[in-house]
This record gives sequence, C-alpha cells and structure tokens, in this order.
Amino acid sequence: MTNTNTVPTEVLAAEKLAKEIPAKRLADLTQKSQSRWMPKNFYASSIPECDRQMVHSILDWDKKPLADPNLQAIFEAGKSEEARIVRMLSDLGYEVIAQQNPIQIRHPRTGEIICTGKIDGKILVGRHAVPVELKSMNPNAYARINSVEDFAKSPYYRKYIKQMQLYLYGNGEEAGLFIISDFRNIKVFLVYLDFGLCEQILKQLERCWDYVKAKKYPEPIAYRPEVCDYCPFEFLCTKTTCHKGAEFLESPELEQDIARWLELKPLKTEFEALDKAIKGPLKEQDILNAIIGSKYQIVGRKQKRTGYDVNLLEEAQKEAIKTESEVTVYKIAAL
Ligand code: SF4
Repeated sequence: MTNTNTVPTEVLAAEKLAKEIPAKRLADLTQKSQSRWMPKNFYASSIPECDRQMVHSILDWDKKPLADPNLQAIFEAGKSEEARIVRMLSDLGYEVIAQQNPIQIRHPRTGEIICTGKIDGKILVGRHAVPVELKSMNPNAYARINSVEDFAKSPYYRKYIKQMQLYLYGNGEEAGLFIISDFRNIKVFLVYLDFGLCEQILKQLERCWDYVKAKKYPEPIAYRPEVCDYCPFEFLCTKTTCHKGAEFLESPELEQDIARWLELKPLKTEFEALDKAIKGPLKEQDILNAIIGSKYQIVGRKQKRTGYDVNLLEEAQKEAIKTESEVTVYKIAAL
C-alpha cells in the first residue's frame, strides 16, 4: 500500500484502477453468466453423443449448472472473433450475407419444431451463396485440427459436424465451409452434405423428442469419460453417478502422489500438443533428419505397422468379434 501523503494523485488514480478493473470485469462476467433460459426445442449446435443428455437439456434446463466467469469470458472472446473474421473476409473482398440465418427441423409425424439453429453467414460467389460457420479455439486445439476428419475424433467437435450437416440439410445446400481460428491464424475446411449422417442426426432428434414429450428419459450410455465427464447433467444421471457414501482414507503418501499428479496433468496435455506440433510438419514433408538451429536434431525412422480397419467390416462381423467388459474409470479432483 502506498503512503497517500507523499504519492502524486495520478499514481493513486492508477492504483485505484489496477484494483477496480479486474473486480468490475469479474462482476460483469459473473452477472452475465448467471442466467438460464427455457429451451423450446433442441439446438443444432448442441447435439451430444448421448440421447439422455439431450433429453435432460429440455426437461431439466433449470438444473443445468451456470457457466463460470472463465467460460463466459471464452464465449465473449469467441463472439468478438467471429465478428473479426467477417470483417477480414470483407477486407479480402468477399461479401458475407445472411448472417445468423435460421433453420428449423420439424418432427416427421407431428410437424412440431424439434430443432432450430443458425449459421454464421454465407459468402457470395457469383449467383451462389456458400454457407460458412466460424469457430474459434485455443492454439493447442487449433494445432490439432487440420481437417473435418479431425473434428470427428472428439465428441465435442463432432457437434460442429452435426450442426453444419443440419444446416446444409435444412437449407438444401450441397456444401459449406468451416473457418477455424486461433485468434491469429485461420484454416478453412470444405464440408459436403452427407445424407447418411443427416439421417442419423434426424433420427436422434426424433427419438429424443419423443422422450421429451413423454417426460421420460432414455437409458444412459455406458460411461465414457470423454462424454460423461463433460456432461452438464452428470449429477442427475442415475447410472454414472456414484451415490454411495465416500470412504475416508488416511494416507499422506497417497495425498502427496495426488498433489503431484494434479501438477503434472496439464503438462501432459501441453507435451502431447507440442509433440504433434514439432513432428507433424516433418512427417508431412517426409523429412527424416533435421538439424534445428544449432542446438537440436530430430531423426526419424520408417517402421511397418499393421492395422485392421474394423469400419470396413459388416455390422454382423463387428458384432461377432465384439467384446464387452466392465472397467472402473476414476476421476481425480481437488476438493
Ligand atoms: S452422464 Fe453420460 S450417460 Fe449420463 S446423461 Fe450425461 S452423457 Fe449421458
């Protein structure tokens, strides 16, 4: 704390601002993140892997945990980035029209609107308007996504594919674009309308809507950490939540190991992202021996790897070789 008798008033003003701005920002984010609204139907941008989660999103919308201020800040940054990309496209000479153009998907039997959505815009090319969806992400995620196929590798990004497919289907469009950004660079991916995938998504919407109307829940999926650990309704989900009381274990060694585990976990993610960022470009250019600057050398070696693509098998063949066993997956968190 500065002595107010000797400090110039402009320094006092700066000190006041240094405390005030972060506090005001936090209060603003907290206030913005404290609202929920009742969804009338499913949203194209938010179709998860699990039917039960989808049904919870309508029947239990008022129990969904509120976003924390950090998440709210990420939403805001994403919105500003979308606006920046539209300006960038316009600076490059493209006309972006139909921003936030809506789609509606109706139930095939009842005609009710069961899903709505919107696309970020369309780029005019002669007489055609090509749909474009803008997605911003952190630099680590951005480095890992190099094609639409990479979206398909994670449940979170698979939602993007479903959103685009529903948009193309809803508007009778054959192709669209994703533009992804890490807040500095962009990558552009072309997406074609996939009728097979649309059919699956429409069936999921219809099935889940029928549960909503009956005020019933589908069975939970078998626990999948990459889906269930990010599910906002996990605490309501009967099968994955452990309702048994906790056992109290006294073990200083275990406590120490957990503390270190929590320290190392973020480093693992960073390590994996860096590993890909370093080796990926060399693989792409088929470089097997590289000296980097004056300190490092990377040497590659070609190896034979045998793989079996089970996707090429018929459903009956997959069924015949399927094995199922129960595994216990633990989640470690600080109290
Ligand atoms: S916790 Fe898992 S099974 Fe339960 S609703 Fe969520 S995603 Fe579905």
